[in-house]
Amino acid sequence: MFKPKTIFYEKEIINYELGKELMEKYKAIPKIEIENHNNIEELRKSENKEFLNLKNNLIIGVRKTHNFVENHKVSDYLVPYTSSGCSAACMYCYLVCNYNKCSYLRLFVNREHMLDKIIKTAEKSERNLTFEIGSNSDLILENTITGNLPWTIENFKNTSKGMLTFPTKFDMVDDILNVDHKGKVIARMSVNPDEIIKQVEFGTSRLKGRIEAINKLKEAGYKVGILIAPVIMVDNWKELYLELIKQLERCLSPQVKKEVFFEVIFMTYSYVHTKINEEAFPNAINLYSKDQMTGRGRGKYMYRNELRKDGEAFMREQLGKYFSNNKILYVV
Ligand code: SF4
Repeated sequence: MFKPKTIFYEKEIINYELGKELMEKYKAIPKIEIENHNNIEELRKSENKEFLNLKNNLIIGVRKTHNFVENHKVSDYLVPYTSSGCSAACMYCYLVCNYNKCSYLRLFVNREHMLDKIIKTAEKSERNLTFEIGSNSDLILENTITGNLPWTIENFKNTSKGMLTFPTKFDMVDDILNVDHKGKVIARMSVNPDEIIKQVEFGTSRLKGRIEAINKLKEAGYKVGILIAPVIMVDNWKELYLELIKQLERCLSPQVKKEVFFEVIFMTYSYVHTKINEEAFPNAINLYSKDQMTGRGRGKYMYRNELRKDGEAFMREQLGKYFSNNKILYVV
């Protein structure tokens, strides 16, 4: 259970039910009042090597911008929701890139406003829209602090239209197993070979737990997907990912295997990641490879085209072999 060292909070949070609850829950934790959750000078100015220590803080505020971004993968819109950032520390996390070292967990207590906008957009649309509510954080992790997921699902279930979806790297799903979701939620488990989880995805759940969690979610009637993400081309990557696919084939329940779909995402990286990681995790593996990667603008890197193509062919071939009846939505 995440126990914050310090809480930074905007004073308006006490005008919201969740804000009051969190202040009560954390009454023994030292607190610092802030003007704006987007710019906490003392955290912004700390050094890269402090990255992990910064993750021990919890920031609580009110989300002011609610812009939906069109998306064409599992969802129709990426929607800003109840948190951004995360208390775990995956070395490639794209939130690091967006918020630099300030990718610590921020909670937003005005959940009623945010869900209301989603519901109104869903009801107004002629199509059955899907909303990605977990693109800025990990909602299963966040839920262990806020209880926001059962609240969200309960309050969304009676809409006439619309679906919600979120990805996760955590196995603490018990809280939502008995919620009446009416089939309106797609839970997507992000997986990687256990060796990569151990070396790169610090603070997340291990592979076995994630597989058990997706089996439980299916048992509870949720629609489910598996994200193999990000695929990281370490030396023996094909061996590791083949073993991962075989493990999924062995350990996913028959119900999951009947309907699960796959998304495959190759790792992207950035100059910011290299700087933070070499100072914050001096003993960790180096994910940047000059030989394998090429720039894709604004200090970002991706695997070279020929490697990517070979990687995509490999992943499609192996998934096709072990999951011949399941869809691969995309490989990027
Ligand atoms: S669990 Fe997700 S949000 Fe958290 S650090 Fe890892 S990639 Fe980022």
